[in-house]
Amino acid sequence: MALLFSLITLPYAPNALEPVISQETIEYHHGKHLQTYVDNLNKLVAGTEFESMPLEQIVAKSQGAIFNNAGQILNHNLYFLQFSPVVADNHTPKGAILDAIIRDFGSFDAFKAEFEQKGITLFGSGWVWLAADKDGKLVITQEPNAGNPVTKGLKPLLTMDVWEHAYYIDYRNRRAAHLQSLWQIINWDEINRRYTE
Ligand code: MN
Repeated sequence: MALLFSLITLPYAPNALEPVISQETIEYHHGKHLQTYVDNLNKLVAGTEFESMPLEQIVAKSQGAIFNNAGQILNHNLYFLQFSPVVADNHTPKGAILDAIIRDFGSFDAFKAEFEQKGITLFGSGWVWLAADKDGKLVITQEPNAGNPVTKGLKPLLTMDVWEHAYYIDYRNRRAAHLQSLWQIINWDEINRRYTE
């Protein structure tokens, strides 16, 4: 059987996001959890109409196990590719994305506060997203389980994973502390690229 989907390669070393995300968490989260979703999806789509579709299209059109595994791959690809080490100089927004944040949330601090609150109050497992509608207006959405704002016709820009596997090794039950710390490694050049492409 051909390998239809594959595990993304991280653009940084597994210890590069410390102390915000430990090497151990990266090794489990990327190397075990995400790998399992990739392996599951490859088995599930073989011989179906989904095997030649891009992930976004599978997520928009599927349900059940195929949706869950495709959604988790799409979500984690966007998640892992939005980070850069603490010492990088791209952790505050600039350009079009900054202008849109100020227009739609009032300030960067107000945006961060609302985003963290939506992550803290998402019950159970899921994802909090910054997304844009077709006119470029920004919204924050809470998506349970494998959800992604593409199912609402929105473009996903930035996300925080609130499944416990994302933070339990490093932060135990302290989800809020984990979400607050993630701002130190968000690569806003990448978020701006997603917004403007
Ligand atoms: Mn995860």
